[in-house]
Amino acid sequence: MTARNLFLLPGDGIGPEAMGEVRKIIAYMNEAMNAGFVTDEGLVGGSAYDAHGAAISEADMQKALAADAVLFGAVGGPKWDDVPYDVRPEAGLLRLRKDLQLFANLRPAICYPALASASSLKPELVEGLDILIIRELTGGVYFGEPKEIIDLGNGQKRGIDTQIYDTYEIERIAGVAFEMARTRNNRVCSMEKRNVMKSGVLWNQVVTETHKAKYSDVQLEHMLADAGGMQLVRQPKQFDVIVTDNLFGDMLSDVAAMLTGSLGMLPSASLGAPDGKTGKRKALYEPVHGSAPDIAGKGIANPIAMIASFAMCLRYSFNMVKEADDLEKAIANVLDKGIRTGDIMADGARQVGTVEMGDAILAEFKALTA
Ligand code: NAD
Repeated sequence: MTARNLFLLPGDGIGPEAMGEVRKIIAYMNEAMNAGFVTDEGLVGGSAYDAHGAAISEADMQKALAADAVLFGAVGGPKWDDVPYDVRPEAGLLRLRKDLQLFANLRPAICYPALASASSLKPELVEGLDILIIRELTGGVYFGEPKEIIDLGNGQKRGIDTQIYDTYEIERIAGVAFEMARTRNNRVCSMEKRNVMKSGVLWNQVVTETHKAKYSDVQLEHMLADAGGMQLVRQPKQFDVIVTDNLFGDMLSDVAAMLTGSLGMLPSASLGAPDGKTGKRKALYEPVHGSAPDIAGKGIANPIAMIASFAMCLRYSFNMVKEADDLEKAIANVLDKGIRTGDIMADGARQVGTVEMGDAILAEFKALTA
């Protein structure tokens, strides 16, 4: 069997603690399921800065480029607040996204029944929620030029950001959304602001044309992004896949995140274009949360976001759908049993630390895959 190459970048703060729990699952899958994962490990963020004076070394960048998938923990912390801007911890993540050309960011918002009461919305609105937000990650207003502050010479300054999207950028992100929808409930809602933005007009046209040309079996709906934000908190279960640009996606995926309770629960995937020869996409999987310096080193971080990111890796990089389903089910079962880390603690539940939560999920996964 061909090896499945994983490059692990645990990073800083709680990153290494959470990654430790994924390592156990990988070891089990290799031993009991002959999964053939080959892992290598590198440094990113503050830990890379301490070792190499850069947010990620060139050698580790090469390993990330060569791997089938990158698993990323978290970066940053007060220790590195004052390092030079271009080697700050986040620069490691930005470099990875750029060099791996990860243009599609996938953020599922799943509300486990056991956690419905932790949402800021009424439980009946979120219980069983399962939506996928697909955000364009490498274009739009965060990268468009000109991007500057100019002095107008009359005591005023002008801040400029430029929203730019080309046809191919919209086509490829729409393609990802339609393909993902086919593996789910076959519905896509595209969000933009065509009423006030030219890039929104083009977005709407290109998504419509891509749908007509290749994906007419998928149900497509268009919504203005502001209305979409409102609908997300009004009736979130109406959505299956949402596709939107970099700026709106940044905001709407954070809104959706809070529907599900805690930051410690949320995984994400960032995908590149399929390779012309192998069809494989470059991919990076990471929890949505940061390095949580306030709880780092205490053994209390919730590893679920990291483990669920690995489940996404099984699904999207290795097409191990059954294994991904089982791992997600293992997480749900552990929550159903009332086992909780501090961030999702509830009355009557049993509070555990990072390692115990990881062990409980592994035990469930073993039972499901035995
Ligand atoms: P954060 O996500 O690290 O933490 C926010 C709050 O949520 C904290 O109270 C933290 O304890 C809690 N939390 C987060 N993840 C948790 C988990 N798995 N289990 C239990 N509790 C959890 O965000 P922040 O405090 O704004 O940022 C801290 C550092 O992380 C900063 O240096 C920031 O730049 C960095 N950061 C990195 C990433 C990344 O690596 N992708 C993302 C966001 C922030």
